[in-house]
Amino acid sequence: MTMHTWTTYRCDCGHIGAAHTKENDQPYSANWGVTTLEGLGGTEQAPTCGACHHPLGAGHIVPGKPREYPAPDGRTP
Ligand SMILES: [Zn+2]
Repeated sequence: MTMHTWTTYRCDCGHIGAAHTKENDQPYSANWGVTTLEGLGGTEQAPTCGACHHPLGAGHIVPGKPREYPAPDGRTP
């Protein structure tokens, strides 16, 4: 089974994006995970705002609302 986790970031400029992590939690398969940045720039380790390119850190994470943001392409993740 694949676990999906979204970490939502809100920039000081108001732009919202997310890091979407897919992980396989099967105990007998190799550990793997892939993180896709949605609406963000930079890298998984150092995301930046997709609008103003401001560096985003732990202080920009929106707690408890992992899915309440519009995806860049308009769909609900
Ligand atoms: Zn910004």
